[in-house]
Amino acid sequence: PARTRFAPSPTGYLHLGSLRTALFNYLLAKATGGQFLLRIEDTDQKRTVADAETRLYRDLRWAGLQWDEGPEVGGPYGPYRQSERSELYREHAHKLLDNRHAYRCFCSAERLNALAQQRHKMGMATDYDRTCADIPKEEAEDRAAKGESHVIRLRVPDQYPTYKDLVYGTFKPLKRRGHVVETAYEDPILLKSDGLPTYHLANVVDDHHMKITHVIRGSEWMPSTPKHIAMYNAFGWTPPEFAHVGLLVDEQGNKLSKRNFDTDITAFQEMEIFPETLTNFAALLGWSHQEKSDVMDLKDLVKTFSLKFTKGNTTVTFGKLQFLQRKHAALRAKAGGEGLDEMVQHVLRLLTEPDSAYKYDDLKRLKGNSFLLDDYVKRVIQADPENYTNANEFVYRNSFMFQLLRHSKSVASAEGIPQQVKALQDVKEWNRDELNAKIKAIIDARPEGKAGAKDVYHYLRKALTDREEGMRIYDVMILLGREESLARLGVDA
Ligand code: GLU
Repeated sequence: PARTRFAPSPTGYLHLGSLRTALFNYLLAKATGGQFLLRIEDTDQKRTVADAETRLYRDLRWAGLQWDEGPEVGGPYGPYRQSERSELYREHAHKLLDNRHAYRCFCSAERLNALAQQRHKMGMATDYDRTCADIPKEEAEDRAAKGESHVIRLRVPDQYPTYKDLVYGTFKPLKRRGHVVETAYEDPILLKSDGLPTYHLANVVDDHHMKITHVIRGSEWMPSTPKHIAMYNAFGWTPPEFAHVGLLVDEQGNKLSKRNFDTDITAFQEMEIFPETLTNFAALLGWSHQEKSDVMDLKDLVKTFSLKFTKGNTTVTFGKLQFLQRKHAALRAKAGGEGLDEMVQHVLRLLTEPDSAYKYDDLKRLKGNSFLLDDYVKRVIQADPENYTNANEFVYRNSFMFQLLRHSKSVASAEGIPQQVKALQDVKEWNRDELNAKIKAIIDARPEGKAGAKDVYHYLRKALTDREEGMRIYDVMILLGREESLARLGVDA
């Protein structure tokens, strides 16, 4: 069983990319019978957004990603908020000082800045020259005791540790020559001058203490991983497995931005995207499976999940989101439970809001007094579920179901059809079989026989719905009822 975690910093809200990270970790835990943890990485208090944490909880729960351990639910390895664990990090930084895997660095910010600029100009890969690495221990302790401002840095090993990424394979070891590390890596800071940990230290200490077995995270963290492995080694701990997943990009290959999807989850909620649509959509971004269909709810995803991630960046396409939404709408309509009720409620709200283009009185006239709006809306949805993306688009597409419509005179049609459809008057049992039989008879009576079927259907659709396409014509007639259907066809009842 895997123990995984989602470790967001509360510096913003849940986005598509971070939802995907959370989801992959959730799926691995659930697929292996393990636990999914939530840990709040709030070491950078300056960047903390006030309501980010509560919004994260809300949005994760909305998506169905309930954590087994973490804030609000507790667990054996808490607290799960890093700001409440400072002492643990301090202790650990000191352990590394004691065994010389770390050292105190007294360089001022000004010196470090100037140094970095100078080294950049010289084309050196690292910013720091390790001035403080060789300060004798007693001297360093003495200066620290006197209150001299300093940070604690990890002493980078001569050979950077290698690790095997579950997605990207073996990460090449990197060498150090003298005091110059031949890479962009250098002695990373563990504890800042204010005594608080950096992301690196807190992240490693927590993953170890929380017994995390697998870390799935965005590839932007890949360059940090050797630092983390170096820390695990310095502590003498076994690191977890790492799987880095590629960035999300738009169809032009640009990193997602506010304009193209990288909106927080609220935007999808406002579009009435179902949670199961969004988790399905997010899961398919950089993960592949062997199922026949891409359409999967969270339970299906748990059943199917394996660590089959694709290397490289993943393109996000809006069309796919809409496709999945329609498929999940159809599943909801078929299942007929709460999911369908929620769709009905959205449509009802639209139909009945004060400035709605749809008049309840019209609907009553349309359907008679005994008419139950909820029930009617539900049946309309069930007749056309594969076209539901949200209430607004659905009502617009099927507006003929919610308005009185009288336009049959203007409907252009092949010769004789308006007269012929008068025969529908004879249909007393307004059901599918009777309607089917009568329409078939009308078609057979056409001069061109069956070849004229298209014209008849087109006429009916145009007169009944004022549209060129839409749900099956029998469903339209049955939903509208005999009286309204005949009225629209200009036929006496
Ligand atoms: N706090 C980091 C973030 O916000 C976590 C990175 C990681 O998963 O290690 O993305």
